[in-house]
This record gives sequence, structure tokens and C-alpha cells, in this order.
Amino acid sequence: MAKIIDGKAISTQIKEETKEKISKLAEEGVEVTLAVIQVGADPASSVYVRNKKKACEYVGIRSLSYELPEETTQDALLELIEELNGRADVNGILVQLPLPKHMNEDMVIENIDPKKDVDGFHPQNVGNLSIGRKGFISCTPYGIIQLLKRSNIEIEGKECVIVGRSNIVGKPMAMLLLRENGTVTVTHSRTKDLKEVCRRADILVAAIGKPKFITSEYVKEGAVVIDVGINRNSDNKLCGDVDYEDVFDKVSAITPVPGGVGPMTIAMLMNNCLESITIKQNKNEV
Ligand code: NDP
Repeated sequence: MAKIIDGKAISTQIKEETKEKISKLAEEGVEVTLAVIQVGADPASSVYVRNKKKACEYVGIRSLSYELPEETTQDALLELIEELNGRADVNGILVQLPLPKHMNEDMVIENIDPKKDVDGFHPQNVGNLSIGRKGFISCTPYGIIQLLKRSNIEIEGKECVIVGRSNIVGKPMAMLLLRENGTVTVTHSRTKDLKEVCRRADILVAAIGKPKFITSEYVKEGAVVIDVGINRNSDNKLCGDVDYEDVFDKVSAITPVPGGVGPMTIAMLMNNCLESITIKQNKNEV
């Protein structure tokens, strides 16, 4: 019988821990502030931004909201980021992606102070992760490590296969699993014999963006399956990259969609906002 990894429960646990630490900081007169910038009104982005602000409120983080019109110039956005970089009362800056087409996302991210880059997307933080230094870690893969650890799933020495090599999920996931002493393989659209490679996995992470792509043919008996995908099926219902029903009887543990990886991303964002305080106090390297 497969264990269902309950991302909702684990993310609540993390948010409670964060809330407690933030309330202790408040007693010492330290306030944590996150600036959230959204450009345009993409409906999915609006939902994400709303949920992030709600989570901030829940854990006691002050959130500053910047809702800029779609036609905002990149220079104007960079000016706002510069202002927030310089503000002592702002600990974290989050620019909701995707940005409108006339903007260069890489350049925008590079202009965020790495010490305030709570999304962990700045090249300096990505580099720190790669060479084992401290810094902000991309929230989704960081959340997956927490899901595994808090479900008592051992990573050390395990064959870990990741499907997908994006900068925000696949690649940092590989670095984190490596840091936990997993034996890591990263696969992508050009991988040959993908099914065979996936069947080697003790821990299989699917971050592809294709509904129900991973069927039981990709999964070894007893594997742990982590489904990062957030897709809509033909009935417009949320579904993951894994065919949950098809693999369920074969796996030892699995994350559902929704209720698996999704809630962890926001919980780890709250955790990163908290960590921004230690970074500010120079107790941490970035
Ligand atoms: P990207 O589109 O950036 O990357 C997808 C990756 O999948 C690419 O590396 C691509 O390979 C690979 N891929 C595509 N088709 C195949 C295939 N047929 N065989 C093998 N590999 C393939 O997506 P993201 O990483 O941003 O997101 C992945 C999924 O996770 C999406 O559904 C997204 O919505 C979800 N997501 C969920 C989050 C959460 O909080 N739960 C957070 C972030 C994302 P190649 O590089 O060769 O093109």
C-alpha cells in the first residue's frame, strides 16, 4: 500500500514553525517584510500572488504589494527593485514570473539584491547552491527535500532520477539531492531510453509540465514518486505529471496533485523570508 505524502500537512507544520520564530523575532522588535511585485494581471499569477500574501499574513510577515500595469517598462521595474534593494525595512523581494514579453526575466532577477532574493533565482544563489555554500534555495525543490525528510524517506545512497532540467526545479533539485548524498541523474526531452532510466530510480521526481506523462512503465516497484507538475487535464481538473492511479499500486510513496509539492513551495518561501533575517544579520553567507 503506497504512502501518500501529505504536502498540505507538512507545509502547515513548516508554516507553524516559521510563525513561531517570526513571533519571537517580533518580541525582539524585528519585523520581517516581503515585497511582492506583479507586472500585468495574468490570472494564474494573481492566484499565486494572493496565496503568497495570505501565507505572509498567516505567519506574521508584513507584505508590501506592488501591482504594476502590463505596459510598465523594464526600466521602471528595475528602478523599483533598486529602491527596494536599498530599503532597510525590506528583507525579501519577489518578482512574480512570468513577466510580460517585453521584459528580460534574467536581467530583472539579476538586479535583485542576492541577500533579498527569497525565490533563490539569482545567479549568485544558484552558484552558492552548486558549490555547497549557504544562500537562498529555490522554494519548490527545497520543499521537496523537506517532504522527503519529514516523511522519513532516506536520500543518502539512493538512485534519484529527475525528469526535467529547468532552472527553477530540475537543476536545483539535482544539486539538493546530491547535497543529501543521493546518486543523481537528470533527464530531459533528449534523454534516450527515458523509461529505462526512470525505472532505475528509488526516488523519481517528475517536473515536466505534461499531464500524466509518467505511467507505471516508468516506475520501479517500491519507488518514491514526487510529482511537481501542475497541469489541467481535458476536464480542466488539476493533475500532475504522473498518472497517479496507474502508478499507485507500484510505488512505496507518492505525492498527490493537488496537495503534494504545491503547498510546500509557499511554505518554503515563508521559510526563506525568515532566513533573510539571519542573512541580513550576516550570520549567513550569500
Ligand atoms: P519547464 O517547461 O521549464 O521544464 C520542463 C522540463 O521537462 C524541461 O527540462 C524539458 O526538457 C522536460 N521535458 C519536456 N518534455 C519531456 C519529455 N517528453 N521527456 C523528458 N523530459 C521532457 O517546466 P518547469 O520545471 O518550470 O515546471 C515543470 C512542471 O512543474 C510544470 O507542470 C509546472 O507547472 C510545475 N511547477 C510546479 C511548481 C509547484 O509549486 N508545485 C513550481 C514550479 C513548476 P528540455 O529541457 O529538453 O526541453
